[in-house]
Amino acid sequence: MSSVQLYDTTLRDGAQREGISFSVVDKLHITQKLDELGIHFIEGGWPGSNPKDVEFFDKARNITLTNSVLVAFGSTRRPNAEAEADVNLLALADAGVKVVTIVGKSSSLQVTQVLETTLDENLSMIADSIRYLKTKGLTVFFDAEHFFDGFKANSSYALRVLEVAAKAGASCLVMCDTNGGTLPDEIVNAVEAAKKLATVPLGIHAHNDGELAVADTLAAVNAGASQVQGTINGYGERCGNANLCSIIPALRLKMGIDCVTDEQLAKLTEVSHYISEVANLIPDTFLPYVGSSAFGHKAGLHVSGLAKWAESYQHIDPAQVGNKQRVLISELSGKKNIIYKAKEIGLDLPLRGKEAQKLLEQVKLLESRGFQYDNAEASFELLLRRAKPDYQPLFELVDFMVVVEKRRRLPTRESPEEMLSEAVVKVRVGTEVMHTAAEGNGPVNALDQALRKALLQFYPSLAQVRLVDYKVRILEESIGTSSQVRVLLESSDGVEEWRTVGSSTNIIEASWLALADSLGYCLLRQKAG
Ligand SMILES: [Zn+2]
Repeated sequence: MSSVQLYDTTLRDGAQREGISFSVVDKLHITQKLDELGIHFIEGGWPGSNPKDVEFFDKARNITLTNSVLVAFGSTRRPNAEAEADVNLLALADAGVKVVTIVGKSSSLQVTQVLETTLDENLSMIADSIRYLKTKGLTVFFDAEHFFDGFKANSSYALRVLEVAAKAGASCLVMCDTNGGTLPDEIVNAVEAAKKLATVPLGIHAHNDGELAVADTLAAVNAGASQVQGTINGYGERCGNANLCSIIPALRLKMGIDCVTDEQLAKLTEVSHYISEVANLIPDTFLPYVGSSAFGHKAGLHVSGLAKWAESYQHIDPAQVGNKQRVLISELSGKKNIIYKAKEIGLDLPLRGKEAQKLLEQVKLLESRGFQYDNAEASFELLLRRAKPDYQPLFELVDFMVVVEKRRRLPTRESPEEMLSEAVVKVRVGTEVMHTAAEGNGPVNALDQALRKALLQFYPSLAQVRLVDYKVRILEESIGTSSQVRVLLESSDGVEEWRTVGSSTNIIEASWLALADSLGYCLLRQKAG
């Protein structure tokens, strides 16, 4: 089996994505996660460009990596200057790493137009910088910036740059599609030309401006590149970098190329989610392989096919990348989805023929009233359980009342008036009826407080539950304030997260339904576990 070395630049190129700002601690955590995934090289940052990266490399000396080698990034020396006196190169030599990557220009136009120096001086800058870093005992990778654009405009110069870098001692020549607009066949042509004269391994670094970064990377590997640079979730400048979360499984599962072990591959989804959490970005549910929709099936026909043959509508087994199959419930669903879903949650429902049909009709009715179960699986599970003839609710809502009041405070206080909400609920638990009242900063909060107050005496574990997210959507917007309102609640007990839905023409009632489902679901899981 041929092999490819994985080079992650999430911490440098990935951090260029709009909205990302990693702290030093974030970067250290991500480094360890990438090590677990089995990434061969982790580019930690550019110590010559900012103090945060200097601090990162300083702290990184104290962490032990099992699979990965940490790499520092920088650029070649400035035109008409000494490599030995170049601040940026000195910072690389001081970063405490064994491998460094330096970027240099390989497009003749970029040299003359942007760098504003001669083609020969650019070659000297590359050679001097690599030689200097070699004298410091470092392994040097060379990033040939704008290589593919340069190859199109002046192929002999682009190739000359690679030759010079190899001769100066670079261990890998990384061809960069810096502007991200190259097509896969153009990548193949250029890599094949480079391969003919290369004396050292070749690498590929692609950007996603033409949405081709993954395709370009795989094409380059087929043409002979053996180092692949990319980022987790494809984070990066503009439209991003080549997404390692798509590249790794493609290499391993489809091209038979060795890069990570089966166990490491099975961590891919976890690593993807972890890094989006640290980046404070909502995980993209539609990402191939690792997104929660990647193996989510909605069409009834597909679900019916999957029940017969797991691979009928999936290109890989989701478990291989640590993901899982999901069956979505919606108005498009057939009876089979419901039977499948019941089985998936281990529910012993006698769902055959008519019963499943009846439940399906109920789902359709609720959906016509604004409930939607695609993203509220906890509410759906409760719906299924309520359909059982021996279903015993853990609590029942008798009624509730909410008062919202605007009160004038004493003028000495900072704020002259405040909004106050108070809720009164009546809940039946077994044979007892609890009557509680609570205040809150809003009506939903007051209801939540009052309901918990009633239930905590019976179920103390509910104290762990907190509401993570609360979304309101107005359906049929043209009707204005009398329109249907859907509330989606996300709750967590610190270990697990679940989503519930409520719908009504009244926002308080919609919230109440979603809230009651959330606490009901939590109790159900605890009872089952
Ligand atoms: Zn880049």
